[in-house]
Amino acid sequence: MRGRRPAPGKVYLVGAGPGDPRLITLRGLECLARAGVVISDALAPRDLLRSAPPGAEIILAGSRDGRRTLDQAAINRIMIARARRGLDVVRLKGGDPTLFGRGGEEAEVLAAAGLPFEVVPGVTAALGAAATTGIPLTHRGHASSVTLATVHIGAGKSADAIDWSALAGAGTVVCYMGVGRLEATVRRLIAAGRRPATPAAVVRWATRPDQQVVAGTLRSIVSRARRAALAPPALLIVGEVVSLHSTLSWFDTGAGIDLSRTA
Ligand code: SAH
Repeated sequence: MRGRRPAPGKVYLVGAGPGDPRLITLRGLECLARAGVVISDALAPRDLLRSAPPGAEIILAGSRDGRRTLDQAAINRIMIARARRGLDVVRLKGGDPTLFGRGGEEAEVLAAAGLPFEVVPGVTAALGAAATTGIPLTHRGHASSVTLATVHIGAGKSADAIDWSALAGAGTVVCYMGVGRLEATVRRLIAAGRRPATPAAVVRWATRPDQQVVAGTLRSIVSRARRAALAPPALLIVGEVVSLHSTLSWFDTGAGIDLSRTA
């Protein structure tokens, strides 16, 4: 047997959901429960790591204080090396692994390395926020489409790379990674034709007990978010549907999703 390579393990790109650890899928939990290695991003709920087997290797790969603990090349190398060693690897990512989460890029790397992989979808932050803020992203009376956009553009690219007039003309728009660029985003949307009176909200840590929501209009949202000192991670939601927040909000901030009624 000496010298024989073990059969490679499989890499699971798993969506951890938006924040509340119970919003991961059953398939995601199954993968965690049999993982030999878990490589977790900072946005994935830390509590989920307890679902990995006691002997599993846990690697935290997220950004800490604005600094990445592991760069993408290092993450790729670790995934490939562990899988080649025969271990099942869970790459745990906040929300859905492929939405603004480099899951597509990591799958490409795995495909190029000839390793088996599976993508396990997750509840993306926009859908988590929609649920726990009482802002349905579509609604027959208000919006028939929703656009998920990032306003974080790669190094060396200008904000002109974003099609602002498409976003200004769209139904509901949800902007990821927007806190540091909130003011510029709002200014661009208005310049591209979105009405300043359009309802808008910033949602921080959606689905968690410490969720924060600041609602207003495009005209008022920047100063309101600033007054609330909203830090990342947060989403900007723009569109008429945001007006439903005041009547449909059901989430008990402080307690989170009701535990007493879970089986
Ligand atoms: N793959 C993730 C997104 C990763 S990009 C997903 O599908 O949700 C990271 C950005 O997602 C953050 O900057 C923030 O804009 C948003 N985000 C992630 N989790 C969030 C949460 N619980 N509440 C609000 N925004 C969140």
